Amino acid sequence: MENKTSYKEALDNRIFEIISQAAAQLNLESYVIGGYVRDFLLKRNFKKDIDIVAVGSGIELAKQVSALLPNKPKVQVFKNYGTAMLRYEESKGEFIDIEFVGARRESYRSESRNPFVESGTLEDDQNRRDFTINALALSLNKNNYGELVDPFNGVSDLHKGIIRTPLNPDITYSDDPLRMMRAIRFATQLNFTIEEESLKAITKNKERIKIISGERIVDELNKILQSQTPSIGFILMEKTGLLDIIIPELTALKGVEEVEGQTHKDNFYHTLEVVDNIVPNTEDVWLRWAALLHDIGKAPTKKFSKKHGWTFHGHEFLGGKMVKKLFERLHMPLNHKMKYVAKMVMLSSRPIVLAQDIVTDSAVRRLIFDAGEDVDDLMTLCSADITTKNPQKFKKYHNNFNIVRQKIVEVEERDHVRNFQPPISGEEIMEIFNLKPSREIGVLKEAIKEAILEGEIPNEYQAAHDFMMSKAKKMGLITK
Ligand code: ATP
Repeated sequence: MENKTSYKEALDNRIFEIISQAAAQLNLESYVIGGYVRDFLLKRNFKKDIDIVAVGSGIELAKQVSALLPNKPKVQVFKNYGTAMLRYEESKGEFIDIEFVGARRESYRSESRNPFVESGTLEDDQNRRDFTINALALSLNKNNYGELVDPFNGVSDLHKGIIRTPLNPDITYSDDPLRMMRAIRFATQLNFTIEEESLKAITKNKERIKIISGERIVDELNKILQSQTPSIGFILMEKTGLLDIIIPELTALKGVEEVEGQTHKDNFYHTLEVVDNIVPNTEDVWLRWAALLHDIGKAPTKKFSKKHGWTFHGHEFLGGKMVKKLFERLHMPLNHKMKYVAKMVMLSSRPIVLAQDIVTDSAVRRLIFDAGEDVDDLMTLCSADITTKNPQKFKKYHNNFNIVRQKIVEVEERDHVRNFQPPISGEEIMEIFNLKPSREIGVLKEAIKEAILEGEIPNEYQAAHDFMMSKAKKMGLITK
């Protein structure tokens, strides 16, 4: 049954009146649709883009809207998609992107997620939308301005917290498999439940995810990782079998094995707990990627021996190397972000080892040197890694961590190794000993660095110079 509720307050922005006026001038119907309406009804943080559907040409409507606006913003036309976009300046420096599309009917072929498109009615357009909560439309027409058009009871699903497809879920997910990731992403962001039939259809169609590009999958993974509780999404991906296709390194961590009465923790669920423990950051998702991947080296390094029980020797190093392969496979950036994640994974056990032992200055200096700028992030990751359910241990580890944190501050204040610059440059060494570029220079530089990290000398020019001279003497570079 159609709902005749009106939501004029959702259209409390001059731009909607202008679109309405432009549509009337072109004698066509127009509606606000999708995320804007959904988020308004959820009272969710207001997004800064608006989707408009025109029963007619979306491109013509965009041009007409631009003509009515005082600064006549540029209309960007995407001919292939039959869409157009303009950037509306709401107030000084505040912009809203408005996307216009002509109402359409879509039909799919199996090998591509790009449909065959023909123009259609508003109803056709709502039918092609992925979820009932994303198919809600508000009229911009003069005769029923603000009226909600909700043919699939999307509002009821919003209240119940349900992700459901307007049409047959099996066909909906098979047509465009990206929708499987979108369903799980919305379930995670909104803390909604995916309706049973949808969940079955996702499981059935999981292999179809292979026709989706890595970039698009990663966009969704990033949105999941930026949510409050990413584990919701990863558990859904695991249950439907998608995760095994997308990131098999993670599903390999699942399960608890027992040999001779000795078990190890389930590293998959542990990993998800660590990810959830990191505070979400919508600007920077990389620390959560590091948390997600911090234990991936554990599956291939797992061993049992009578003497040591379960071990994962070298998992951090191997895990760091696996990061690069995984980034390549998913078409993720292979720049400093990848290096950052790999470094975090490689160093992910260091602070814990430190916290279990007596914390020496030299161990702290080495940690600061190796982690550099990222030492604080590393400490955050490692605190999140403490997932023990034993309250005494939990307290003890955190207390030790605080000692490490304090030591980091003290040592760094004194020794400045965070952005380590050799106190004596290679050029100066060449000049002092009258050397051409050679192995000896590297040896001397390394020896100075080691002496500083070990605490044999302070990180100062004169001390480094004296140390270098005695080292050079031993090497036979000077005779006096
Ligand atoms: P958000 O901006 O939070 O991702 P959104 O719903 O606005 O939410 P968009 O990706 O901007 O997401 O999509 C806008 C609208 O287009 C959606 O609300 C939905 O109606 C429709 N849509 C987007 N992608 C698909 C898809 N793959 N299949 C069907 N409909 C889709």
